[in-house]
Amino acid sequence: MKFIADMMLGRLARWLRLYGYDTLYGIEEDNEILRVASSENRVLLTRDSGLAKRAEKLGLKVFLLHSNSLEGQVKELKTHGVGFKELFPAGARCPKCNGQIKRVEKEEVKGKVPECVYERYDEFYVCQNCRQVYWPGRQWREMVKIDRKLKKISGVDDGMQQNAHGKLL
Ligand SMILES: [Zn+2]
Repeated sequence: MKFIADMMLGRLARWLRLYGYDTLYGIEEDNEILRVASSENRVLLTRDSGLAKRAEKLGLKVFLLHSNSLEGQVKELKTHGVGFKELFPAGARCPKCNGQIKRVEKEEVKGKVPECVYERYDEFYVCQNCRQVYWPGRQWREMVKIDRKLKKISGVDDGMQQNAHGKLL
């Protein structure tokens, strides 16, 4: 399932990418959103009921969300059958640009990350599109905390999560 999110759903879009969903975000113009959703066969995610109606008339698949919060939106997506299982980095997309993320050899990021980071970590990932480097630092741990919360909401088995986190940290 591929998505296109409207401008009100930036946080959700970043999380969908982290869970490996191909998610476009950043198009402001409604007509353009509808055009891309149609031509790329993407499910439209929106909080705008007017836009949702227009999409439905065009025969597009659309999930109209009502919640303001990430947690609430995840719950709503679950009712549409969207699961949140494989957290970053396995199969993830870059939260910034939707590009694909690949693990790289440590040497490849020398000079591209702060020296202290280079010395402290051995696991690095690079976005194949925008070249952003990722490693299991503080932000990553924050992400895992939120992941735990979201998993509770979306009802994923606890045992599976523990293994995934063990690997991440
Ligand atoms: Zn990127």
